[in-house]
Amino acid sequence: MSQSLIAFDTNHIKGYVFGTSKLKEIRGASSLLDHLNRNLTHHEAEKYKPTRIYANGGSALFLIESDFEEAQRLGKAVQRLYREQTGNGASISYAIQPIPDSYVSGSKNIMDVEMPEVLELLRFRLRQVKDGGHVPTPKNETEDFSIAYPSHPFLATCNSCGVAYAEDMRLDNDDPDEPEGRYCRVCIAKRDEDRQVRMNISKLIQAERNHQGSSEKPSSATLWGHILQAIMQPEPGKPAYDLPPNTQRPRDFNIFRNFTHGKEYLGLIYADANGMGKALEQKTTLRQVQDFAQLVDDAVFKAMGHAICQHLPVQKNLFPFDVLLVGGDDIVMVTPADKAVQVAHTLAEQFHEATQKRYTLSVGVVLAPVKYPFNLQRTLAEEALKAAKKSGSLQNVSSDSKREQSRINFVVVTGNTSQSYTKVYEEMYREQKNIDHHEEFYATLRPYTLDNMTWLLGQLKHEKAQRLGRTKLHQMREAILKRNRTTTIVEALA
Ligand SMILES: [Zn+2]
Repeated sequence: MSQSLIAFDTNHIKGYVFGTSKLKEIRGASSLLDHLNRNLTHHEAEKYKPTRIYANGGSALFLIESDFEEAQRLGKAVQRLYREQTGNGASISYAIQPIPDSYVSGSKNIMDVEMPEVLELLRFRLRQVKDGGHVPTPKNETEDFSIAYPSHPFLATCNSCGVAYAEDMRLDNDDPDEPEGRYCRVCIAKRDEDRQVRMNISKLIQAERNHQGSSEKPSSATLWGHILQAIMQPEPGKPAYDLPPNTQRPRDFNIFRNFTHGKEYLGLIYADANGMGKALEQKTTLRQVQDFAQLVDDAVFKAMGHAICQHLPVQKNLFPFDVLLVGGDDIVMVTPADKAVQVAHTLAEQFHEATQKRYTLSVGVVLAPVKYPFNLQRTLAEEALKAAKKSGSLQNVSSDSKREQSRINFVVVTGNTSQSYTKVYEEMYREQKNIDHHEEFYATLRPYTLDNMTWLLGQLKHEKAQRLGRTKLHQMREAILKRNRTTTIVEALA
């Protein structure tokens, strides 16, 4: 009996999920990828007697009872599945490593056999496929879809992405800006998925409410089922969450105006675990890999659930947040601006707790006006996260800790929206070309350690008690600007 390992990795996840700036499409894309990743890939592998080592965050690893040729059939079938389900919007790469007979002999369970070389080879093969030109690598991830379509004056383009040709009409009664529109098949797949989730969400909430005190566990098979489970699951030190039966998700980003006491700001949070690649390389058996992947994925959901319970209670039957991506070692969320830094702090703190203090998380937060272009806010959040990670690992050179530390970094975009848009945009591209000034750009981003952030949030609380009537957002800006001399990115570039 031959056995093989087959590894999968979704290509350009963020390019697909954030291909358009509409909340419902981002959410639909995310939910669709999660379903493909956690459920459908495993289902497709069924006839190869798969053992799931992991399947989360867009990656998967299965042990199957097949030789190389059969494994290849599975790889191609999964690729087809991704194309069909996403209307050619998303794709996935795979690599195969047969397990040599010498590892299989003996009475030892294959899960516990030391096979560092086999795992290393598999990682190498996957990297080769991904870097080797088999995967189109766009300059910018969101340009993913813009290459293949020539412009043609007689064909209408999609109302949403504006890139691909529209193929079908869709009615959408709860989109007042666009009650009906023509969309391409990529956007249709995303919108249909989001509608499906919306129709099921009250059932999921009901199941969660009924579950309180009963032994029957509601389904975590869907992304939102999983998110609700993470919110409602009791944990020591975690406040209970009051979940009214008709609670809905925000319809679009504009809804966030209602949550922030007149300040029309949106908080975007980008969190990512530190040093996961290195940690994975140190795992030498399949069981170690399985346990590690499970621990990190669970910790990401636990940390998110805790942060939501602590800072984001339901307001007027609406969740005052949305989860754009979660799983593997990533979390991308939007929250009202005055809660974003607190949420980021709890995410970092609780992830560390949930991994028994073995792993840490870095977070980038960008607070920007709701009308600010979402994709620019996202790019800034990515930069903020990168700077946080860089700072966390630089600090390590002098510290005793072997691991990168938790870091929280945030940027406030202020002033006239359209003006700051062009300024930040131009400046970012100019700086990328001009290596000498690179550090200057990052100098405006000042990552905080978890301890510093705890202190800062404590100060803000104290100040709030003293000077009522000022919003937290304003206080925070003031505290940061004056005390810590951190300048906001826009002010630094002006
Ligand atoms: Zn489209």
